[in-house]
Amino acid sequence: MKLHSLTLGAVETNAYLLIHEHRAVLVDAPEGAATAVDALLEEEGATLEALLLTHGHWDHIVDAAALARRGLRVYGHPGDQPFFEHPEVMRSFLPLPLSLEPIDVTHWVHDADRFLEMGLRFEVRLVDGHAPGNVLYHLPSEGIAFSGDSLFRRGVGRTDLPGSRPEALVESIRKRIYTLPAGTVVYPGHGPATTVGEEKAENPFVPAA
Ligand SMILES: [Zn+2]
Ligand SMILES: [Zn+2]
Repeated sequence: MKLHSLTLGAVETNAYLLIHEHRAVLVDAPEGAATAVDALLEEEGATLEALLLTHGHWDHIVDAAALARRGLRVYGHPGDQPFFEHPEVMRSFLPLPLSLEPIDVTHWVHDADRFLEMGLRFEVRLVDGHAPGNVLYHLPSEGIAFSGDSLFRRGVGRTDLPGSRPEALVESIRKRIYTLPAGTVVYPGHGPATTVGEEKAENPFVPAA
């Protein structure tokens, strides 16, 4: 499997394009993702089949509706359904005037769900606290996971937003991220990648219990 990291948009949001045997999956859709991904797909001779949304905050979904219209399978957690279906509620947080379109999530996922994309098994873990429906997508066969805005390298997501629950974030990171194999590489919604073991040892906000 091949992984392309893209950092896009006004608040440097990460999107990840995964390619396996000419089939592709995109994790999150910040502003500019549709164009950036098209160039990579063409280069790789791959077809985009699914969009995995870690959560519904505006910076992760600006290009999601346009991508979804291509008939992709779109995954998201119902905790963030209000953001997916009524993104205008986030308008006051936009640093720029962007148009936000409602997104048709076709595959609602819950904690502990599993699904297949590109012939590979993905496992879902709910890591709420930053957003009610922030999920981590774990690819056990590759030893990688996508954490959205829950856990960052030496950091955690903001918990001062509508729907945030500061007390839930630390607990869900301990229960649902720190329990992954220590060597799992974590690709976050902002900033560089890290590993579960490194964060357990070094993360100042979430010491291992
Ligand atoms: Zn967020
Ligand atoms: Zn974000």
